[in-house]
Amino acid sequence: MLFTTNWLSKIFTDNQGDVQDNKEIKVVTTDSRSKDNNSLFIPIVGENFDAHVFIEQAIKNGAVAVLWDKSKKIPESVSPQFPVFLVDDTLKALQDLSAQYRNEINPIVIGITGSNGKTTTKDLTASVVKMSFRTHYTKGNFNNHIGLPLTILSMDRNTEVLILEMGMSNYGEIDLLSRISRPDYAIITNIGESHIEFLGSRQGIVKAKLEIVNGLKEAGVLVIDGDEPLLQDLQVNQKVVKNGFRKTNDNVLSNVLITPTGTEFNLSDGLNYKVPLLGRHHAKNASFALTIGNHLKIDPEKSNLAFHELELTSMRFELIKGKNDASIINDAYNASPTSMKASIDVVKQMDGFPQKVLVLGDILELGNHSEALHRSIADTIESPITVLFTFGEQARLISEEVEKKGSTIECMHFVSKEEMAKALHTYLTKDALLLFKASRGLKFETIIEGLQKSE
Ligand code: ATP
Ligand code: MG
Repeated sequence: MLFTTNWLSKIFTDNQGDVQDNKEIKVVTTDSRSKDNNSLFIPIVGENFDAHVFIEQAIKNGAVAVLWDKSKKIPESVSPQFPVFLVDDTLKALQDLSAQYRNEINPIVIGITGSNGKTTTKDLTASVVKMSFRTHYTKGNFNNHIGLPLTILSMDRNTEVLILEMGMSNYGEIDLLSRISRPDYAIITNIGESHIEFLGSRQGIVKAKLEIVNGLKEAGVLVIDGDEPLLQDLQVNQKVVKNGFRKTNDNVLSNVLITPTGTEFNLSDGLNYKVPLLGRHHAKNASFALTIGNHLKIDPEKSNLAFHELELTSMRFELIKGKNDASIINDAYNASPTSMKASIDVVKQMDGFPQKVLVLGDILELGNHSEALHRSIADTIESPITVLFTFGEQARLISEEVEKKGSTIECMHFVSKEEMAKALHTYLTKDALLLFKASRGLKFETIIEGLQKSE
């Protein structure tokens, strides 16, 4: 049980029906189709639909109470005894309710933002923390103004640590999420170029990410990417911990070694760690998890073991087998300029593949900066990369730029995904490593499906 209708009636005092029955609420949902007994249904007014019309369906599917926009009429078919909590705005009420519930349960809260690496850092931190504490954390990518409140409202009452991913595309969003969740620890994984279309510049991105401090407790700790020049002289009241490769950081990463099974690294504590993920950036993501573990007094050896049991959200740099035993990296979940460069760097560092093929697609939402940022990807494309495939109007600029450099890399641009898939077949050999990377909207996984080894 999360709470009762009586508890709700103290928060939402304008109500009707049998709200004093101490009815138990086990699930909070915004989806009338979800079949959960004892749920509280919160109808959200979206751009294209208004979920208030689904109240009967929600009740049929197990709702025992609803929040309700007071300007809307309740259908007559709903019994006058049915508990209804009247509010001015159901979205705001969902957010307020999650903030109240967070305070009621009062776990240690860890908030994670950044341009890249949020989900990975969340998964790594959860794997460390859950070995020692009852831990609740964001599932998948539920990281926005609706997903984060719903994540809070799905934690058990006995939760000790709550780990929340905080996503954003514009100013004010992290501010809201941070004030709702009031973190004890806040992590800024890195500053990239994602959403620069809305934020104007990298300084703008820094400003937007730093909104996470607005809800951070006075005695809280801010853990940041200490290698980022724009995060050096922060004027914040809370303690700041810097992690990264620079020697001046509080936690210095060194001796990074990338093997086919994962990335090894040393931290300034002198210990050697290993994560089952490929890439230098993942050493840094793991260091954030270790810093949290350290503050929660978790033995670092135990954290290292936890990394081995990591549960990952899929399509993030997954190494799979293709036809003819070719090695395929499915990183098609999403892309930003920083993450595309980071992934290319990992491919360059991996040993044992004479043929290294990049299959790159457009990175969306870069606005005016799009052309320059796509062209800048070419800076990282050099030997030992042997072949470059591009698809999409903007990705074409990457090919163009690589060709301009006069390198020996074979460049091919396609305007049809089917044609590209056909051409890729020739490159599926035992010696080949192929990286697939593009924005979500390009659905590159549909190409990968056809190239995979059949069972
Ligand atoms: P989203 O905004 O889609 O939720 P995210 O911030 O949750 O993204 P992840 O899903 O963890 O990010 O990682 C996405 C990709 O970003 C990875 O596949 C990897 O290529 C890259 N990446 C991960 N961590 C870092 C990092 N610290 N620095 C740079 N790139 C990174
Ligand atoms: Mg994410």
